[in-house]
Amino acid sequence: MTVHIPFQNSYSALPDSFFARVAPTPVAAPRLIKLNRPLALQLGLDPDLLETPEGAEILAGKTVPSGADPIAMAYAGHQFGNFVPQLGDGRAILLGEVIDRHGLRRDIQLKGSGPTPFSRRGDGRAALGPVLREYIVSEAMFALGIPTTRSLAAVVTGEQVFRETALPGAVLTRVASSHIRVGTFQFFAVRRDTEAVRRLADHVIARHYPELLNAERTYHGLLGAVVARQAELVARWLLVGFIHGVMNTDNSSISGETIDYGPCAFMDAYNPSQVFSSIDEMGRYAYANQPRIALWNLTRLAECLLPLFGDDQDKAVAEAQDILGAFSETFSAAYQAGLRRKVGLFTEREGDEALIQDLLDAMAKNQADFTLTFRKLAADDARSEFMDPAGFDEWAGRWHARIALEPQTAVERQAAMHAVNPLFIPRNHRVEAVIQAAVNDDDYAPFDELVKVLAKPFEEQPEYAAYADPPLPDQRVLQTFCGT
Ligand code: AMP
Ligand code: MG
Repeated sequence: MTVHIPFQNSYSALPDSFFARVAPTPVAAPRLIKLNRPLALQLGLDPDLLETPEGAEILAGKTVPSGADPIAMAYAGHQFGNFVPQLGDGRAILLGEVIDRHGLRRDIQLKGSGPTPFSRRGDGRAALGPVLREYIVSEAMFALGIPTTRSLAAVVTGEQVFRETALPGAVLTRVASSHIRVGTFQFFAVRRDTEAVRRLADHVIARHYPELLNAERTYHGLLGAVVARQAELVARWLLVGFIHGVMNTDNSSISGETIDYGPCAFMDAYNPSQVFSSIDEMGRYAYANQPRIALWNLTRLAECLLPLFGDDQDKAVAEAQDILGAFSETFSAAYQAGLRRKVGLFTEREGDEALIQDLLDAMAKNQADFTLTFRKLAADDARSEFMDPAGFDEWAGRWHARIALEPQTAVERQAAMHAVNPLFIPRNHRVEAVIQAAVNDDDYAPFDELVKVLAKPFEEQPEYAAYADPPLPDQRVLQTFCGT
């Protein structure tokens, strides 16, 4: 039985300068670690066939399925503020696109499937640890309801990759609405190839923003739409304590999905200046800096689109500034509305913002666990998260007075709060433990269990209650690594 994937490729039909055609490099002994069966079904693929040895070969890049048109996409990007005119898929190959059960076009990409013309000095490979981390965190984000790329499968290759030491090699099958980034626009803009920028913009509009097709000032509309989606995305990150870690323009998706899970992490104790990434020495991508950085990245996108705005470039700049100006309002509205839901407010009153800010300030001062404080607040049980519970009591008094003005019952409020405040997040120490078991002992049971628990982040799962716990002092993970 051969595995058939009904590809309908559109990106590889764009001009040659957009990508390089390159096949995955066959690997020694592919073995399937995990298949995301519900996602396979959603994509119209047969999970049983993907679980056969031939399926594992496809997911490892050893066999290229018929209808695939494998390419490495070209892109540029600002990395930590420094512009690199050519990055591109150095360790990822897009097999092709499928139309899913909802009629949406989805990219199917292999990450870690061998070198491409964009690999520079890299080996085009991925180590098992980062592959498992991306699988866990991207699927956790999906379960939390946050726009994200997905993970269809993880396979080990039977080969070693060499980082500081020899590590098991692996391939992640990543699914995305598209892999088009701010950096994809930058690739053409820096080459002053306005026709390519226009071609890319038209492709993006048809694919992600079809409502703009018949609008006036389509390209202005495109910038506005991306600004809105990014503003809402970053608000969602902050509301769950997520730190992306490498918000370079090449890791900033035009579709508004979270993409590129490298040194990302969820924070335990609330700390607005929290950084985990070992390479983020200046704290550029710290938790609370993320909205500012998203706007910075969007400003780079705006620069790329200016030639499409019209011949009068002074006017174009003014228009772009206007559109970018909407970011902070959209972000604040999404963030404040989310915070209100987190503390159980259904209505909006003067003083709410200050009340909530006072809670966040007290949490920071008391190193309160971000996730558990909000989760426990529903049962008015958050005081134990504070080093100085008296500080919480003062705030709780004001909160009680405020929620007494809401028409909802306590039961309704609790249900609403539980639906937005997760109990289970991918805590760093859990992710690390799972990776250690897989890498050192070839034991994937902890990985399977963590993935299972995180698929229902808002539900009490009494048998897995320990997964909600913050790390003990000696379990704390202080740094995360790109690990490419
Ligand atoms: P990232 O840190 O994942 O955003 O990657 C930044 C750039 O480095 C992209 O162009 C990647 O394709 C490239 N890259 C990262 N790791 C490797 C690798 N192992 N081999 C080749 N290219 C890589
Ligand atoms: Mg990247």
